[in-house]
Parts: sequence; structure tokens; C-alpha cells
Amino acid sequence: MAVLLVTGGSRGIGAAVVARGAAAGWDVCLTYRSDEDAAHRVAAAAREQGVEARAVRADVAVEADVEAAFAAADAMGPLGGVVVNAGVVAPKSRVDAVSAARVADMLAVNVVGAVVTCREAVRRLSTAHGGPGGSIVLVGSVASRLGSPGEYVDYAASKAAVDTLGLGLSKEVADEGVRVNVVRPGIVDTEIHASGGQPDRVARIGPTVPIGRAGTADEVAAAVAWLLSDEASYCTGSVLDVTGGR
Ligand code: NAP
Repeated sequence: MAVLLVTGGSRGIGAAVVARGAAAGWDVCLTYRSDEDAAHRVAAAAREQGVEARAVRADVAVEADVEAAFAAADAMGPLGGVVVNAGVVAPKSRVDAVSAARVADMLAVNVVGAVVTCREAVRRLSTAHGGPGGSIVLVGSVASRLGSPGEYVDYAASKAAVDTLGLGLSKEVADEGVRVNVVRPGIVDTEIHASGGQPDRVARIGPTVPIGRAGTADEVAAAVAWLLSDEASYCTGSVLDVTGGR
């Protein structure tokens, strides 16, 4: 089967996507920023499912790193899917307290990184570039619809950009064999909340979700895997909320 590239695959939703992708038969190239051991463990678990898998260090905010990650995927075989998952939050802050540096750092990962990753994906997948076609799934956030007031409006705005990137790109490449869709998770039990200084966020917000709990990374990965697959052959430009009704 073709190669699936997953950014931010060393833990959380990305790691769950790698596991689902390997189970579906994709050879997987996953990227990570800092946690080499975790990334290699995720790749080893994928290989146990009988596929090829490798982990590549790449900061998606660094253009050359993204290009190198795609080159590593190219060495594994023809690319067929890309999951634009790497993303960061920042500590809780109102807009009247944010610094420009904080916003720039977040946009560099969540927006510039996503656009550059999509660029490299389209250059390989699009039939206009001689590619075989394929599927791109962007991991956005329900924050783009909720706005995250009092918490991180700047993060929510970065994820609104991801929604729009998916929408516009889907129309650009729809007749070039490439489907582009967005999955918007709600509150999901991963380490991202602790990384933003709120380790209690899942316990606090989970019970307030209409379905009564936070989601798991695998529940998000299931939606991503479906959109990657041919089962979703008529879906492009879609935004799929995986939020427990939030
Ligand atoms: P996570 O547990 O914090 O994992 C983030 C992953 O991204 C890690 O593999 C990390 O690598 C990698 N990463 C971080 N910054 C990177 C960079 N600059 N370049 C490359 N890789 C980078 O996060 P998660 O909760 O799984 O979130 C995944 C995506 O879902 C993000 O886009 C996030 O915004 C979105 N999301 C999450 C939730 C939620 O509740 N969890 C809700 C809505 C949307 P290292 O570990 O090696 O640093």
C-alpha cells in the first residue's frame, strides 16, 4: 500500500492515527519534534502490524524540516495520504494579555506548518504534478467554532485558519485526484492540555460535554482513518466534528 505521512505522530491523536493507518495497511512515515523515544516506540508498534514505519524528527515550523520529512517518506515509496496533525496550544490567556511572540510561535506551527505540509503533499499527490491522487486530512479543532474565550482565542483563530485552508485547498485540487478534509476534535484526553499548563482540563471539561466525557485519541483517529480511506471517496471540503456533541 502507499505511504501515509503523519505530522506529530509521537503521541496523542497523531500516534493513534499511526496505529489506525498501520492497521489499514498503510506504510507510515511519522514526524515528531522532540520526543525521539516515543516516536520510535510508535513506529515499532506500527511495524508489528506488518507494515513499514519510520519516525523522522521535523519541526513543522521549519520549512526545511518539512521538506526533509517528505523526502524521507518518498524514500519509502509513493505517497498516498497525509495527516496534518502537529499542533500546539499556549498557556491560558485573555487576548488583552498575549504577546506577539506567543501568537507568532503558535501560528508558525499551527498555520504556516500546516500550509507548508499541504504544499509538499499536493506537489506529490496531485495529478497536475504527475502524482497518483490521494487524501489529505487536517486536524483542526472545535475551538474554531467555540472561540475559546478566556482560554486561548489566538489558538482558536489559528484553528479557524486550518478550517479555511482545508476548504480552499479542497476546491483547488478536487479535480486533481486529491481529497482534502478537516477533522475537528473537541476535548480529547492527550498531553496537549498539560503542555498548555492545564493538566486538569480533561477532568474539568469532560463531564460538561453533552455526551458526558472527554474523547479518546483513538475516537478521533477513527474519523481520520475513514476520511483517508476510499470509503470516503465522495468527501472533500468536509469538516467533521468529533466532539461528543460539544
Ligand atoms: P499532543 O498530545 O500534544 O501531541 C502533539 C504532537 O505534535 C506530538 O507528537 C509532538 O511531538 C508534535 N509536535 C508539537 N509541535 C510540533 C512541531 N512544531 N513540529 C512537529 N511536531 C510537533 O497533542 P494532541 O492532543 O494529540 O493534538 C494533536 C492535534 O489535535 C493538534 O493539532 C491539536 O491542536 C488538535 N486538537 C487536540 C485536541 C485535544 O483536546 N487533545 C482538541 C482539538 C484539537 P513531540 O512529542 O515530539 O514534541
